[in-house]
Amino acid sequence: MPRTLTLVLILLPAWARAQAVMDGLNAAAWVQTSVEYRASALQAWRSARLSLERALKDKRWTAALEQTGDARRLPPAIIVDIDETVLDNSPGQARFLLEGNGRFSEKQWQEWTAESRAEAVPGAREFLAGASARGVTVFYISNRAPQEAEATRRNLVEKGFPVRDAVAGDLGDALLLRGERPEWTSDKSVRRAAVAARYRIVMLCGDDLNDFFPARLKPEERMNRARAYDSWWGERWIILPNPMYGSWEDALYDFDRTLPPAEIQQRKLKALRTR
Ligand SMILES: [Mg+2]
Repeated sequence: MPRTLTLVLILLPAWARAQAVMDGLNAAAWVQTSVEYRASALQAWRSARLSLERALKDKRWTAALEQTGDARRLPPAIIVDIDETVLDNSPGQARFLLEGNGRFSEKQWQEWTAESRAEAVPGAREFLAGASARGVTVFYISNRAPQEAEATRRNLVEKGFPVRDAVAGDLGDALLLRGERPEWTSDKSVRRAAVAARYRIVMLCGDDLNDFFPARLKPEERMNRARAYDSWWGERWIILPNPMYGSWEDALYDFDRTLPPAEIQQRKLKALRTR
């Protein structure tokens, strides 16, 4: 093999890896080291605590678009997402950067969640434990897979989160994972509707627009659709910061994860405005 070709074959993967690491570095460093991240999370959960008083008093109050019909007599519930909402997976992200090729790896992710070692997002446990003590059922609607259920439950319980084993109707427990039932797809609205049939959903908490409404849409459509709910943020809808990943990013390249990394990077660059 000619020496130049050998050199290219050695350097190209190293260059691609370095690029991917740079893509993810700022976001993971911000979440793991900045006071700014911690303060943003505390601020979100403080808003939730203040808002819960009004939400419980006002029986017409609901936070779910899937809540149709009279919910005044239904018991109150809060729906939270898990990853980057109540559990901090930034060490898993750091593993992609430090021990992987810089990008999401299903194998590394599964290894991380199986360890049940994620820390609580600052402020999350205190808020949810308080709400649970007041009789609010907390539902965890997550796109983690059923095989991750046991390790996920253990992680939540060990960190002091309220996880009910028995809930109303035929929902089973309070952990509603993707694929536990055929109709429970990655779009979370079917699971929200299942909760809404039995509870008055007083709050939705998440780090991704999909935690609030179906958001597999182009970036402009996401923005336009969300504008109708500007006044819900910090009251009915509590959002946590996640600069590391999310549907906001997938939307920049039409949710096509099969595209080559260089193409994905080009599309992100094209999405930037200079004025
Ligand atoms: Mg999440």
